[in-house]
Amino acid sequence: VTDDPAPETIRYRADAVVTVDGAGAVHRPGVLDVAGDRIAWVGPAADAPPFDGPLQSLGGLLMPGFVNTHAHTPMTLLRGAGDGLPLIRWLHEAIWPREARMSGEDARWGMLLGCDELLRCGVTTTCEQYAHNRAVADAALEAGIRCVLTPGIFEFPGGEPEDSWQYFLAEAEALYDEYDGRDGLLTVGFGPHSSYMLPPEALPAIAEAAAARDALVQIHLAETANEDDGLRAAHGCSAPELLSRLGLLDCRVLAAHSVWLSDADLDLYRRHDVAVAHCPSSNAKLGSGVARLTDMLARGIRVGLGTDSPASNDRLDVWEEMRLAGLLARAVTVESTHVTTAQALHLATRGGAEALGLDTGSLEFGRPADFIRVDLADDCWVPDGDDTALLARLVWAASSRLVTDAWVGGRQVVGEGKCLTVDAAEARREVDGRAARLDTGPEKPS
Ligand SMILES: [Zn+2]
Repeated sequence: VTDDPAPETIRYRADAVVTVDGAGAVHRPGVLDVAGDRIAWVGPAADAPPFDGPLQSLGGLLMPGFVNTHAHTPMTLLRGAGDGLPLIRWLHEAIWPREARMSGEDARWGMLLGCDELLRCGVTTTCEQYAHNRAVADAALEAGIRCVLTPGIFEFPGGEPEDSWQYFLAEAEALYDEYDGRDGLLTVGFGPHSSYMLPPEALPAIAEAAAARDALVQIHLAETANEDDGLRAAHGCSAPELLSRLGLLDCRVLAAHSVWLSDADLDLYRRHDVAVAHCPSSNAKLGSGVARLTDMLARGIRVGLGTDSPASNDRLDVWEEMRLAGLLARAVTVESTHVTTAQALHLATRGGAEALGLDTGSLEFGRPADFIRVDLADDCWVPDGDDTALLARLVWAASSRLVTDAWVGGRQVVGEGKCLTVDAAEARREVDGRAARLDTGPEKPS
């Protein structure tokens, strides 16, 4: 209930508007009207309704902002740490010792620097799982990025109350009550880390807490070939089967990675409408494998793209994930008709939003005004052609270097290639100094 007058409408006119709506409409030239944080009209410039309000003639190409469905963005603090180590040694020797020294203020600066990179790459939504959740949430709100925060839930071997899954679950519930819906930008879910970092009895309790709030549950699943060897020995089934038995798949589940799945596991995903955060760069860089994207799409499984952490990618660029997802799918299936241009674009935008349960990722009436401007004055667009050719250049030839502007919920957060909400020079200085301390320094200084 509000007495506010109707928000002023701003009209944006561009040489091309790529909608990623159900029909894949492209308007050249096109118009996008934004009222407050929502899209009020979109279509061909010639059909636009009469308008005498503020008009911005942007030129270039407007499209939905990219959606990152899996990230641990504060790990900009750990970029490059332990590069080249095998996964388990990388975690034990490079990542966990540094994270043990990390403070909330460290995580805040790591998140701010990461948001600068995400927004400048045209990523307007990010789904995050990490610790120091209040610091991460506050930094996301400060940067003005749309964020689905799924606080990490783990069980650590310390034996202290603060090492238990019950402690992390209670923290996540408190965070939900405090932050869910904040500024119209933040959504809170639950982030049980994985079936191998939690005892089985934790999962029904997490499922119950999430279901009571209809909240998203994000979990790492089937990332490496042998991660569930222990589970198989103890329970005689795959990790997805165990999660199904324990009731977790009855929630709204987003399964990150999902590389090592059998046909039966994929069928289980479909039956429970489990969504996938596909992370091709991270899986390739850490030598984890290539997820069965073509088989997922053929089954109608909801799939979005994720960068994973900047310590394991090492970029926060969903545009690159879009291109790589398509290339790898075609390479492993030896079939150039697999993952079409339209499918690749869908994965990176609307598909990601659907995987997260959001209505962003496409430019349509009534949806959040999360959009980016892409420069069309670049060699990669030549030769020009029809709409199909334009989309092919967008997916396969262009890249995030051409993103000049970005808006989240109608608010401009990137202009002329610069993030307007984060002081990038300050964030770089802070992260540089803090990373040096995390390499060798004492635990959690104030
Ligand atoms: Zn991850």
